[in-house]
Amino acid sequence: MNPSPDSGSPTAHEGPGDRVVADLIEYLDASPSPWHAVDSSARRLAAAGYVEADATTRWDDAAERGYVVRDGSLVAWNMPLTLPHTVRIVGAHTDSPGLRVTPQPDSERAGFSQLAVEIYGGALLNSWLDRDLGVAGRVVACDGRAELVRVDEPVARVPQLAIHLDRDVNDRGLVLDRHSHVRPVWATTASDIGNFAGWLGSATGTEVGRESWELCLYDIQGAALLGGDRSLLASARIDNQVSCWAATSALATTEPENDGAGALVALFDHEEVGSGSATGAAGPLLESVLDRLVAARGGDVEDRRRIAASSSCVSADGAHAVHPNYPERHDPLHGPIVNGGPVIKLNANQRYATSARTAALFRRACQAVGSDVQVFVSRNNMPCGSTIGPVTATRLGIDTVDVGVAQLSMHSARELCGAQDPPSLRDALHAYLVGI
Ligand code: ZN
Repeated sequence: MNPSPDSGSPTAHEGPGDRVVADLIEYLDASPSPWHAVDSSARRLAAAGYVEADATTRWDDAAERGYVVRDGSLVAWNMPLTLPHTVRIVGAHTDSPGLRVTPQPDSERAGFSQLAVEIYGGALLNSWLDRDLGVAGRVVACDGRAELVRVDEPVARVPQLAIHLDRDVNDRGLVLDRHSHVRPVWATTASDIGNFAGWLGSATGTEVGRESWELCLYDIQGAALLGGDRSLLASARIDNQVSCWAATSALATTEPENDGAGALVALFDHEEVGSGSATGAAGPLLESVLDRLVAARGGDVEDRRRIAASSSCVSADGAHAVHPNYPERHDPLHGPIVNGGPVIKLNANQRYATSARTAALFRRACQAVGSDVQVFVSRNNMPCGSTIGPVTATRLGIDTVDVGVAQLSMHSARELCGAQDPPSLRDALHAYLVGI
């Protein structure tokens, strides 16, 4: 059973950290799409007194604590109304690999109504088989009004072929055609349900048939503590909504004034497809917000350059924990374990942006909150993934450290991490943002 944030005193099975993890579970379950993740963060920030800014108007009187939303991305700040001497930035990404419903998805075959889908990012396709899928995302009317939609019910499923019709699948491995084998069923043709757009419109109370959409399919099974000792967390989108939650929670609990420094959180969309978009880390969003906040405080180009030179960025994203069944996939000297504390990710070839100086910065934050810290360096014969850290560092020229929570099953529909690491990351990010 999932602990609930507003349940009474802890039960015999709940540990002291469960309340914090319950808050994370609530965030994950409320965020089945990037647009929902942004909404989850915006709601939390608004509850903490942050004011939404309109990017299309002048920011001469931009709030001390505010945020701006653009599609699946959000930038939030706590910045004194005088020019800050530095800005401490935390970056993360809101998107996760998965299946997206195409604009004209309807087809029928063998008595089934099916949905055409587009594969988003580097999904582990096998993990999407035989799961009960809901649908969530946003619809945008012709007049530009955008609305979040969600049907949190078992609507669709990608059924796996029976082993009797695929006898050697366990020996030769599962081979899926990316176009034809991951097409979910969502109804039977004998029913009079009509097309998907019409059904979605009536299920969500929107006039979807005349609108555009971006829709994710998602596993309706909620996040849950796992293990006889409840020491693990199983959920969709651990990569990278755990970091979004940690960054949002850390910023929401910073105090006004914040020692004269700026604290800023940037949650980007489109990391899983390379970050190259108007709202991705390679786009102008973060730089634009920084420029406008400095200008609103009377700063000029020289002030922007001066502040950037003294600023830093912690880029938080998933890290690969050593897999007990595949320990040889890690370098034995640099293999993070779950519940071993946040991980600093290093790569001499700059797939991660960490330097010795920025690693020391994050170590200091972990020490300040009494958290262990681990390091990850990939094997020379195993190229590591990349993340938003090098992208933002290259774009802004700001000192950056890549960190994250160690997890298994990265890019699966349901991932696994330690339950103690996300709270440690949150606490370390808070220490960093307030300058401890
Ligand atoms: Zn990621």
